[in-house]
Amino acid sequence: MNEFDNQLISTCLDSGAYRAAVIETDRIPFDESLRAYCEANACGSYNKNYACPPCVGSPQEVIHKAKQYKKALVFQTVTELEDSFDLEGMARGQKFHEETAKKIYGAVSGQIAPFLQLTAGGCTICPVCAKAEEKPCRFPQLAVSSLEAYCMNVSTLAPLCGMKYINGANTVTYFGMFLYDFQEAAE
Ligand code: SF4
Repeated sequence: MNEFDNQLISTCLDSGAYRAAVIETDRIPFDESLRAYCEANACGSYNKNYACPPCVGSPQEVIHKAKQYKKALVFQTVTELEDSFDLEGMARGQKFHEETAKKIYGAVSGQIAPFLQLTAGGCTICPVCAKAEEKPCRFPQLAVSSLEAYCMNVSTLAPLCGMKYINGANTVTYFGMFLYDFQEAAE
């Protein structure tokens, strides 16, 4: 890790992240079998959002795309909940995560381009994804997928980044990532 990486980490923390780290992409635990969780469609976004499976690409395609970048800036946000049924708190946590990611994007995008941003959950740029009407994506340059859609095992990734996957009772933790340091010769 170099001084530039450290600056990126500081930017995440200054933007509201609870923890941040830089990891070599070849250390990220990819697992093609995780796609089955998306196919189970617990979130309801499967085949309804261009940034989600199956539209986002096959497991092999997304993993190849991620591996075109040498490094990943990983960050997590943590929001307190009243209890484990606090759906409003979870939504507040998601909003806080998106706002934090937006701040980080604004601060680092000019320095790390080209990059690939990943977030928690599917793309929420449009209130209803254009996929619902079978129209083309309205903002293909801005659409953001989840770490899970890219077949990343986030619970295994967290400790590799010096983070906890869950940060205590009555909290919700979301992860975000910026892959950078583009390399042409990906495997
Ligand atoms: S930018 Fe809009 S249309 Fe494109 S993936 Fe995101 S929500 Fe869907």
